Amino acid sequence: MNIILLGPPSVGKGTYAKMMSKIYNIPHISTGDMFREAIKNKTEIGLKAKEYVDKGELVPDDVTIRIAEERLKQDDCKNGFMLDGFPRTIAQAEALDKIVVIDRVLNFTASEEIIIDRISGRRVCKSCGAIYHIRNIIPKVKGVCDKCGGEVYQRDDDKPEAVKERFIVYKKQTEPLIEYYTKKGILRSINAEWPIEQVDNVIADARKALEE
Ligand code: ADP
Ligand code: ZN
Repeated sequence: MNIILLGPPSVGKGTYAKMMSKIYNIPHISTGDMFREAIKNKTEIGLKAKEYVDKGELVPDDVTIRIAEERLKQDDCKNGFMLDGFPRTIAQAEALDKIVVIDRVLNFTASEEIIIDRISGRRVCKSCGAIYHIRNIIPKVKGVCDKCGGEVYQRDDDKPEAVKERFIVYKKQTEPLIEYYTKKGILRSINAEWPIEQVDNVIADARKALEE
């Protein structure tokens, strides 16, 4: 199954995508993770993306479409994939439609208040991308990833100024995708307001929407 996860910044897409990619045994493809990796390794794409990512702006479509297309061409995507953070603009969605057929779009929703709280408390592992939260997903040793021992830090774009910018960008550029996929009849909305301890409720709803 070819799946897209939509939703405002930090609604929890990355967490849900990781869980569902295990359940369905399909790769989790996050353009945000790919850009962070490229920036860390100072590749050509990383150097191009850095200024945008740090400010919370979108990386230009041509660069983003290119890395997403290359990733989708790989063998492990043959039986399906879960896209997280792509597409984020109508132009990206149109480019995607030219190369694959999308079966389902899950649109995760939560109030702005809940989302801001999640973003400001979020911490991530620099090495493996595992996601933590200062109040309710705390690593056993402060600043150290439980899974790989990597450094747990706050992304620059999770700091308040960039968060504000990401919301503005989301509303303007990404929200129109809800209508785009609703018109195709493949979008389902999932309530993502559950506290993290009850993430299983979100996953259960998402599975229902995928298996109906
Ligand atoms: P979030 O936690 O807001 O979902 P991501 O980890 O998906 O953030 O993305 C982080 C940053 O990477 C974005 O703010 C943007 O600069 C860049 N990025 C990721 N995906 C895309 C995309 N599809 N188009 C343009 N820029 C992107
Ligand atoms: Zn880690």
